[in-house]
Amino acid sequence: MKKSLPKQALLHCILMLALALAARAADRPNIIFILSDDVGYGDLGCYGANQVKTPHLDRLAREGLQFTDAHATASVCTPTRFAFMTGRYAWRQKGTGIAAGNATALIPSGTPTVASVLQQAGYQTGVVGKWHLGLGTTTPDFNQEIKPGPRELGFGYSFIIPATGDRVPCVFVENHRVVGLDPADPITVRYGQPVGNEPTGLTHPERLIIKADRNHSQAIVNGVSRIGYMTGGTAALWKDEDIADTLTRQAVAFIGKQKPGTPFFLYFAPHDIHEPMVPHPRFRGTSGCGWRGDVIHQLDWTIGEVLGAIDRQGVAKNTLVIFTSDNGGAIKNTYDDGTNHLHALQPPNGTLRGFKGGLYEGGHRVPFLARWPGKIPAGRKSDALIGHIDMLPTFAAIIGQKVPAGGAPDAVNVAAVLLGASGAKGREALVLQNNNQAPLALRAGSWKLIQKPNGTAELYDLATDPKEEKDLAPSEPGRAQALTVQLEAERAKS
Ligand code: CA
Repeated sequence: MKKSLPKQALLHCILMLALALAARAADRPNIIFILSDDVGYGDLGCYGANQVKTPHLDRLAREGLQFTDAHATASVCTPTRFAFMTGRYAWRQKGTGIAAGNATALIPSGTPTVASVLQQAGYQTGVVGKWHLGLGTTTPDFNQEIKPGPRELGFGYSFIIPATGDRVPCVFVENHRVVGLDPADPITVRYGQPVGNEPTGLTHPERLIIKADRNHSQAIVNGVSRIGYMTGGTAALWKDEDIADTLTRQAVAFIGKQKPGTPFFLYFAPHDIHEPMVPHPRFRGTSGCGWRGDVIHQLDWTIGEVLGAIDRQGVAKNTLVIFTSDNGGAIKNTYDDGTNHLHALQPPNGTLRGFKGGLYEGGHRVPFLARWPGKIPAGRKSDALIGHIDMLPTFAAIIGQKVPAGGAPDAVNVAAVLLGASGAKGREALVLQNNNQAPLALRAGSWKLIQKPNGTAELYDLATDPKEEKDLAPSEPGRAQALTVQLEAERAKS
């Protein structure tokens, strides 16, 4: 008896440990992070849009938590995506502005990423959609294996647009290879210099289905001129009006092939509503706001398909779904699709000042919806300050995984606010950027300091002035100076 007691106790311990681990596994949700492109704070019905209809996104808001003070950490694509992936401000690393379509990999190999942390925790990880963080250690040859890329940063599966729709190459890359490439018709990609005498938007404007500004008037693919030059790869070229269908199909397929018992992480980055906005014909004219509104409808359809896939898979209750955007909205004249005069009927950023590419709120305050049935309260709003940059430690905390030493240095674990815990607080401060390393803006409490290129700064109190209409720097020089010191101290950290 004396000997069997410890044995029983040991067995008991093992049993309890197994139960605890099983419980923990059951608590580890699937995570789907949907990072849409250029969708403004005012572009969804649940954020006040009344011209476009977004029933599926409104459903997410109804069934989850709607953030009113969530931010992309930059007001353009590449630095925002860098910060989301790494939990590190992009302006700390040179060369992280909007990347060319043949840029090399911007995130150094070995950097802990949101994907690698989840992968190490046993998650099946995948990325579908726009990448725009560079590929390869030297200028990539799109006819060969293209790496390092997403798979070397923690994604088990990858199906990407290398850069964006308005830049070459206009092909999808699955894992390390261009999809559908005929080796007899190799791809040549070049930036800055034409490839041979290939037609461009400037030399052959009659071939364009939508007009473009000079910057976007280089290689013509599917009647749309782009930034950059490209020849070959004809069989692999995407059709702009089918991009949403293709990416949605891939995202849905990734969800559909997951096995019960193993959690998954999907980083889904739709191309919508980035330029060129070329909606599938079934969405054209549906919004009354031109093709810009129509691609919002297309994006909403995409979200409906993803939510449907989650339901079909029977994993809705154990899946955290987040929808957000990589920067604020804009009404641009880069392309003219013939409906541009209607675009402004849908104000991209509601009543916020500014647009994509700038440091006013319209540049970086974005829609952010989070749903996890039974874990996140439904139909509530949160005014906590959070950023995409915070997702790495936040997801790690939710699944009980440690952040590797030195990882995500600029991120804050905001799991408590994401889960809607009462009394939970968001960040106290957040640094914001446009495409460059300077000037920057600092949000601290309700105050916001915006550095100007000429060395001066503007100061706003968002609590009383959410539209950033009254610059308080002249009347509150002490506060402006203190925030400048705080921002420069942040910048000085390595
Ligand atoms: Ca963007």
